[in-house]
Amino acid sequence: MQRLHNFSAGPCTLPDEIFEKASQAVINFDGSGLSILETSHRSEAFTEVIQKAQSLALELSGLKNKNYYALFLHGGASFQFMMTAYNLLVNKAAFIETGRWSENAIAEAQYFGKTEIIASSKDKNHTYIPKKIQCPSDVDYLHFTSNNTIYGTQFKSFPQTEVPLVCDMSSDIFSRQIDFSQFDLIYAGAQKNIGPAGATLVLVKEDILGKVTRKIPSILDYQKQIKAKSVYNTSPVFSIYVSMLNLEWLVRQGGLKVIEKRNQEKAEMLYHEIDRNSLFKAYAKKQDRSMMNAVFTSVDSKFDEKFLNFANQHQISGIKGHRSLGGFRASMYNALGIESLEKLVNCMKEFEKNTNTI
Ligand SMILES: *Cc1c(COP(=O)(O)O)cnc(C)c1O
Repeated sequence: MQRLHNFSAGPCTLPDEIFEKASQAVINFDGSGLSILETSHRSEAFTEVIQKAQSLALELSGLKNKNYYALFLHGGASFQFMMTAYNLLVNKAAFIETGRWSENAIAEAQYFGKTEIIASSKDKNHTYIPKKIQCPSDVDYLHFTSNNTIYGTQFKSFPQTEVPLVCDMSSDIFSRQIDFSQFDLIYAGAQKNIGPAGATLVLVKEDILGKVTRKIPSILDYQKQIKAKSVYNTSPVFSIYVSMLNLEWLVRQGGLKVIEKRNQEKAEMLYHEIDRNSLFKAYAKKQDRSMMNAVFTSVDSKFDEKFLNFANQHQISGIKGHRSLGGFRASMYNALGIESLEKLVNCMKEFEKNTNTI
């Protein structure tokens, strides 16, 4: 099979070797005589898998032995919009509004208490990241989205707060070196940089839990999930297994230091071409551009369809822009190789050259 260069915003591309390993496990998981798809979430073999995945997540984030827990839950990041507020919102929470996902998080938190937007990029259609953020001290926590998958903007430094910091890191977790310990709760849908859809990673510091007085249904209660070692009910076994393989792969690559360098290189290649090429322009303000999702448009929308077709003919998949913005979005998650970027950049160059004749 010829693999396409997959620039999709999610589900993300994964390393070839993991597709192979995962395929074998579907037939016969580690020589157990069972497929991973029929392996019990309570089996010894899966217990080993989830513990390994949790341990890798804590190791990669430098949060091991620091009173943090790693949970692999169901429901995606959208579920965490509600679950974080359910567990943490006593009276009022603060939010930074930088796009659709943060807006959804605000809307869900409103079921549980007051919300205050302390900074927003809405005035310029989320083309930038608000700076010099001051967080009031009378809120239960501050929530923000580290990377705005739809608009292609990314926080390069993080707000300093006295209150707990909660971050939706769905689309840039484990893509760069950061101090994870400045956050009290981090969540990420697996399908952007961790593994296949179905699991959601939550890294949570124990101290922030147990402050709300409302009754929390068991499955939504972080404390109960911690107690159940993240296997309160049937886990998304396959997704967690493949996530574990992918996190192992990341460690083998040299961890966040190496992957950050590679991601920087990839992003620079693409943005350089977007800026150089007379047919394209970038959406986000330069200093706030995302290393994971490059959003750009044609200078004239008549080129949109043509470029998409042209790219598709060159084995490039998934660069159609989000339906709310149009244009293009090239997502460059960890597993996307530099050769895929070379392919896309060459394609853009060729398209520019041929544009009078296409
Ligand atoms: C994709 C995405 C979501 C939604 O994730 P689901 O797992 O589909 O709920 C939320 N936040 C960010 C930043 C995303 O990129």
